[in-house]
Amino acid sequence: MADQVDPFYASVIKYFDNAAPHTGLHAGLLEQIKQCNAIYKINFPVRIGKDYKIIEAYRVQHSQHRTPTKGGIRFSNHVNQQEVMALATLMSFKCAVVDVPFGGAKGGVKINPWELTEMDREKITRRYTHELIKRNFIGPAIDVPAPDYGTGPQEMAWIYDTYRTFKGDDINAAGCVTGKPVNLNGIQGRTEATGRGVFYGIRTVLEQAKDMKAIGLEPGIEGKTIVVQGLGNVGSYAAKICQDEGGALIVGIAEVEGAIYNPKGMDIHKILKFRKETGSILGFPGAKKEYKQRSRKKAMEFECDILIPAALENQITVENAPKVKAKVVAEAANGPVTADAEAILLKKGIIVIPDFYLNAGGVTVSYFEWLKNLSHVRFGRMDKRFNERTYSGLVKLVEDTTGKTIGRSEKDFLTKGGDEIDLVRSGLEETMINAFHQINKVKTSKRSVKDLRTAAFVSAIQKMGSDYMTMGIFP
Ligand code: GLU
Repeated sequence: MADQVDPFYASVIKYFDNAAPHTGLHAGLLEQIKQCNAIYKINFPVRIGKDYKIIEAYRVQHSQHRTPTKGGIRFSNHVNQQEVMALATLMSFKCAVVDVPFGGAKGGVKINPWELTEMDREKITRRYTHELIKRNFIGPAIDVPAPDYGTGPQEMAWIYDTYRTFKGDDINAAGCVTGKPVNLNGIQGRTEATGRGVFYGIRTVLEQAKDMKAIGLEPGIEGKTIVVQGLGNVGSYAAKICQDEGGALIVGIAEVEGAIYNPKGMDIHKILKFRKETGSILGFPGAKKEYKQRSRKKAMEFECDILIPAALENQITVENAPKVKAKVVAEAANGPVTADAEAILLKKGIIVIPDFYLNAGGVTVSYFEWLKNLSHVRFGRMDKRFNERTYSGLVKLVEDTTGKTIGRSEKDFLTKGGDEIDLVRSGLEETMINAFHQINKVKTSKRSVKDLRTAAFVSAIQKMGSDYMTMGIFP
């Protein structure tokens, strides 16, 4: 692997190199922004049953232009150094593009978490955390992990507990990791955050009337047909929220076991329930067509308005890109479209919403969780009741002045103070909308920049470059 370039990392570097000339930054500064600053590879032994297994693991810190560095930990059999480097690199641009004040990082542990018992996963997670502590690769001011593919709140709880055991005198210890269970210093809305951010991002792109006209779509997400690849955390929340809050139709789903399609739409809640009960989407009564495991990739070619790849990297390649029929490809996963495949999609006039913008909802809400941990107080605790009293006073004043009574549900809406979940969602919505307009400004103001990914890279690189220059590293 050492000399071979992983296709995912090669794609990320290609995307960066495509955008770099549009930034106006010095070549040396661009090289600093591109390279991974620190790569930590560990091999540690763990006893599994009667065997000893040597576990290969990584933590890569891509950029310390802002600290702490931030990014998830992936548990997967496919983990390799360059995959983690690619993911860490994307994290830096992701944070910069949505104005989350962190550098980028990522961790990877080469295991199949679904084959291990909970006890073994706990052992591996705690040992991995210990290795990070030993090298000063974790801490609320240093590097803050989070969930990624194959990990979730439970792993984050073990990481936090291990950190706390060694750093008991750190009052901010809870900020050493995000995506923790809500009852263990987590935050409401973190689990749904990436999928919800995907929804806000798609909705915002679809509101751009001029861009929609160019691809022959009416503006707005309502009534649009969607195909989702991957019903993990990101894909399932994205599908549910696009259907429930956006009014979109879920016409196709692909998972490891196969794919299903119905041009009239299928209820995502029923699909999720069916899969939970039967272990598969195949046989779902609402589907009109189904494809067995071997041909599940056909889902990428389904007729639809929006295709949401929400599984792993390298899913749309030069082989299947010419057959994609969607008008918008919304990258909910990291790196689902290779650089060469994107060139084909763009030539066909397809809008590609880039991963490091579209899936930034997770890290955005992680940022809110970290802020909550450092402030040691839940969002809404100080001002909710105060605001409710003020709003009630205003409503009463309106009623007294007009002589009219405002209805119960309207009154409830008008007088509600923000709970943690309301504020998290509102902060996430603001972040996704604001970041899109920054990206779009680059796209519309630079004639040489023609697509959203290049524009997003230019936006992120310029912000990172400005940080470095302000620090005087590249005067
Ligand atoms: N793993 C997620 C991502 O790829 C979340 C990272 C975080 O919350 O730090 O963006």
